[in-house]
Amino acid sequence: MSVVLETKGLTKAFGGLVAVDDVSFQLQKGELLALIGPNGAGKSTCFNMLMGQLPPTSGEVFLGGERINGLSPRQIWRKGVGRTFQITSTYSSMTVIENVQMALLSHNGDVFKFLPFAHKMYREKAMELLDMVGMAAQADRHCAVLAYGDLKRMELSIALAHDPQLLLMDEPTAGMAPKERVALMELTAKIVEDRGVSVLFTEHDMDVVFAHSHRIMVLNRGKLIAEGNATEIRNSPLVQEVYLGGGTLFDAEEGADA
Ligand code: ADP
Ligand code: MG
Repeated sequence: MSVVLETKGLTKAFGGLVAVDDVSFQLQKGELLALIGPNGAGKSTCFNMLMGQLPPTSGEVFLGGERINGLSPRQIWRKGVGRTFQITSTYSSMTVIENVQMALLSHNGDVFKFLPFAHKMYREKAMELLDMVGMAAQADRHCAVLAYGDLKRMELSIALAHDPQLLLMDEPTAGMAPKERVALMELTAKIVEDRGVSVLFTEHDMDVVFAHSHRIMVLNRGKLIAEGNATEIRNSPLVQEVYLGGGTLFDAEEGADA
């Protein structure tokens, strides 16, 4: 096994509030790792530090052994870290395939040089990526008319455009119907399997988390309080306590923060 991502003592304070508190973990190659926790636990803050959007107050982030905290989001992306956002950010005036082509152009650094020819460039490669997420048939549709789940699948193909070794997915299924959630996670699991990509994701449908992740970490008030496989997490008294209110872990968070 090889470690793709590692954090050591990762911490972020907003004034007096310590949103992420001394978080250390490792993510292995080909691993699908879930980061769960109640609303406000610090998950997005953690993601933002990994992506270079927020500088840590203290602590370090390593990608394949190389320290990456302090680098810009663009530099981190270039090192092979793909991401999907909690809020979808695509060009709605363009077609599905044009969005993917833009991502490929951007990866290859020639957006401005070749913009007028963008519609011809990388069409084949873009089709391949769309095929991978089951969106090939919708390649020439405008994004504005896509169903939400399809938009998310396109977003995933964009994240894959630069062949990342690591995908960071902050609530990739937010706003999706339960069936779509399962489908997107199945697709992600397949991509992990086929391409050996590593994935760190958050998700608040616990059934989806338990069904698809290899390992689960639980964050509460900025601190990692548990880590293990689905059975271990389900049976952890500490985790049960954190999710109290809804009774069991299974539906406690459903719809809490979509
Ligand atoms: P989660 O994604 O687990 O719901 P967040 O990481 O978004 O949690 O937030 C963790 C805590 O940090 C929350 O209390 C939130 O209000 C606070 N927080 C997040 N971003 C900021 C910010 N930019 N400035 C101040 N407080 C923030
Ligand atoms: Mg969040």
